[in-house]
Amino acid sequence: MNTPLLISPVRAFSDNYIWVIHNQRYAAVIDPGDAGPVHDFLIQNNLTLCGILITHHHADHTGGITELVRTCHVPVFGPATENIPRMDHPLTEAETVHLAPLQLTLQVIEVPGHTLGHIAYFGHGWLFSGDTLFGCGCGRLFEGTPAQMLTSLEKLCQLPAGTQVFCAHEYTLDNIAFALTVEPDNPVLRTRSQQDHERIANHQPTLPSSLGLEMATNPFLRCNEPTVRQYVQHLAGNNINHPVEIFSHLRQMKNHFHLS
Ligand SMILES: [Zn+2]
Repeated sequence: MNTPLLISPVRAFSDNYIWVIHNQRYAAVIDPGDAGPVHDFLIQNNLTLCGILITHHHADHTGGITELVRTCHVPVFGPATENIPRMDHPLTEAETVHLAPLQLTLQVIEVPGHTLGHIAYFGHGWLFSGDTLFGCGCGRLFEGTPAQMLTSLEKLCQLPAGTQVFCAHEYTLDNIAFALTVEPDNPVLRTRSQQDHERIANHQPTLPSSLGLEMATNPFLRCNEPTVRQYVQHLAGNNINHPVEIFSHLRQMKNHFHLS
């Protein structure tokens, strides 16, 4: 019988999550920005590293690769079009990652926007979305256009609603605060806000969330909803109608949003 796979968050820096998929013997890590906390977790749980998966080139996702590969000789998977240290398995759309020690198979989904080569990994009912989809938010557009990012998010929304979403940062409460300014009367969002505030108060991650919950609460996935459109039009002009324009304005508003 196969040992069930478990997923544990390893915290790094101020708000990064390095997700570890393991079967109590072997482990794969996603976006190890820092090797130290990964090493500690592997030792504490008596796990052998068997693979490193990268979503995009930013240092807070890749900074630990070299050190981890130096001590454990494991394959490094990542986006083919980005410069990833020690990458020996460049990936493109619809390719799969298979890690035999874990009997883990993940499919690659190209999601440009935050960076141009950003990829997400999907399989076993899980989505590892990196800095593309966050709890109740989305990544900043450092390299891509609003149209690219919206297309990427829409692509992720095609996955089953029950898919568990593992993001690379704990940004959920800030994102919920912004979402509540956009849709103050969204009942699912209000319930989520309460639950996630409790989780943070109890030092628990707000993740994983589910795609269904994101589609019901995340304003960046709701650019076709009348409430979201009307909010943007109210602030930016009634001539704004196209979902890409709604998304673009929403993203800019979030960039300038600060909790008072
Ligand atoms: Zn990033």
